[in-house]
Amino acid sequence: MSQAPADANPLLDPSGLPRFGDVRPEHVEPGMRALLAELAGELERLERSVEPTWTGAVEPFERMYDRLRNVWGVVGHLVGVKNDPALRAAHEAVQPQVVMLGIRAAQSRPLYEAFVALQKGPEFAALEPAQRRIVDILVRDAVLAGVGLEGEAKQRFGAILTELAELQTAFSNHVLDATKAYALLLRDRDEVAGLPESALALAAQSAREAGEAGATAEHGPWRITLDAPSLVPALEHLARRDLREKLYRAHVTRASSGESDNSVLIPRILALRAEEARLLGFPSYAALSLATKMAPDVAAVERLQEELRRASYTAARRELEELRAFAQSRGQSEELAHWDVAYWAERLREERYAYSEEDLRPYFPLPRVLEGLFELASKLFGVRIRPADGEASVWHPDVHFFRVSDESGEPLAAFYLDPYSRPAEKRGGAWMDECLGRSRLFPDADGRPRRPVAHLVCNQTPPVGAKPSLMSFSEVETLFHEFGHGLQHMLTRVDHGLASGIRNIEWDAVELPSQFMENWCYHRETLLGFARHHETGAPLPDALFEKLCAARTYRAGSVMLRQLFFGVVDLELHHRFDPSGAESIFDVEKRVAETTAVLPRLPEDRFLCSFSHIFAGGYAAGYYSYKWAEVLSADAFAAFEEAGLADAARLREIGRRYRETVLALGGSRRAMEVFTSFRGREPKTEALLRLYGLIAA
Ligand code: ZN
Repeated sequence: MSQAPADANPLLDPSGLPRFGDVRPEHVEPGMRALLAELAGELERLERSVEPTWTGAVEPFERMYDRLRNVWGVVGHLVGVKNDPALRAAHEAVQPQVVMLGIRAAQSRPLYEAFVALQKGPEFAALEPAQRRIVDILVRDAVLAGVGLEGEAKQRFGAILTELAELQTAFSNHVLDATKAYALLLRDRDEVAGLPESALALAAQSAREAGEAGATAEHGPWRITLDAPSLVPALEHLARRDLREKLYRAHVTRASSGESDNSVLIPRILALRAEEARLLGFPSYAALSLATKMAPDVAAVERLQEELRRASYTAARRELEELRAFAQSRGQSEELAHWDVAYWAERLREERYAYSEEDLRPYFPLPRVLEGLFELASKLFGVRIRPADGEASVWHPDVHFFRVSDESGEPLAAFYLDPYSRPAEKRGGAWMDECLGRSRLFPDADGRPRRPVAHLVCNQTPPVGAKPSLMSFSEVETLFHEFGHGLQHMLTRVDHGLASGIRNIEWDAVELPSQFMENWCYHRETLLGFARHHETGAPLPDALFEKLCAARTYRAGSVMLRQLFFGVVDLELHHRFDPSGAESIFDVEKRVAETTAVLPRLPEDRFLCSFSHIFAGGYAAGYYSYKWAEVLSADAFAAFEEAGLADAARLREIGRRYRETVLALGGSRRAMEVFTSFRGREPKTEALLRLYGLIAA
């Protein structure tokens, strides 16, 4: 078979929306290779001719960035939603070169020098704030990539990054290996007493995969592993206390001994990160991490964590006492231990808030939920959303296309919605991604900046027969969440592509607009406004709504305290810990647990050895971001509550302000400045504590 010439490759067609329906796996390798060669040539040319001006440095850089982002974005998107072996192989084959080109551009000395000269030159003061911020960030990112280092320092920096990458991979492999190495095989029916049907089925399937060919959900054998989908239901439901203890102990000592011992890797990782930070001029790795975040400094993060800790600690103690009393009343004579908490917490939840997701589904058919969501967007932000199926090429017949416009009818943006789960070809989870970003470098036919286009991808229950997709409540929350991200991408007013939409937004602030939208799912008028039975049209019963709200704050103190524990340990290790000092990493963990855990920690607890978020993932000195962003979103929502959620005119007024600040400014200003311009002050923790019932309303 002959290959199509590059100019006929639909992947490389730069006109308008991507041709999702035409792109085939066989287009990926030739298309990407041609594009990469072209861009590498452009980068070289730019390095020779770059000038320290906006049009001589930043614009050509944005053109290259945008072209690569858009084409490679199509491939990445299809890998996520229309995966098959040929596509995956093509993706893997070109990915290293894409990464290489990115690194080459990020470490380009001539570009860096041009950006610095622009930043220090006469043109800078005359640039718009968004442009100045783009230049500042281009310089900052180059500095953090080590471009400013010379000689020995430069060499050492490269060696550190290489060793860190290896150590992080080893850390993650150790966790995988240790997880795989452990299994609890159960053969007696009484051993699995309490496990729900779905967990039994999963455990039997796991046993079959491990060689027990005849395993069934009903007769076993059942295999429980340390993988979360297997472990969590076991800890929550296994009636046999001794088995829960075994599992719990195995879980908290994972990857802490033998061939997959991470306890030796952690001090090395921390020492290298501290050295990396020092080379770049920061006092600690935490300070380096915060250089790119909204949180101004370590002290500010610690203040926020301490405020939340004080409030949640009291609640968590109360919740623990409650659980103790409950377990006792149900016949547990032993002192409440770690392996009892999840178990009794589930029993108490069932007693108090029992409702099943199945009771709720009939009230959430997708078309009604979308109607409710779009109406909310119209009420708050003054945007109109209309279905536009057929106006864009899609990758699956279930994908919908929508157009977003202003109340005046002026087109603003568009988005794809790929709602249903398709396990055979689509990645799990839900996400928002940019398809095209707003930018005046790529004007539309009418001469206006290119309008943003978003991907909203969910994995909800597909329609069955003539029935529409009936969504679980958490699927509804997820859709609102992703739509919130989408709004920030689509309602941007920034015309400079490198700072429009969600680009350039500090990492600890990106979940603000998404979590903000989730809050509306608990707003009576909003939810009851659209939740109607798909057959009878009856509204969602009040009692069910009340249970939903009560369940949200169930054990809120304990849940928050646990997240804070992770965040505080992370910061301690990346800010104050001295790998050559007297205190070990486990001493640090123990010290933190004294004030951020209500049940004394097991002396043999080695959870740090499987804390992949901070030792193998991107959360190093950033775990606090979960809470930081939650504080922002709750505080933003509180602005609407303070205005009075029943007052339509006030809601509209606050909604427009939110749109013109949080949604419109995106990454063109510092996130703190954006938040302050919406709220009139810096964020406070009070609203989040109130939301979870941790202080009086
Ligand atoms: Zn999110």
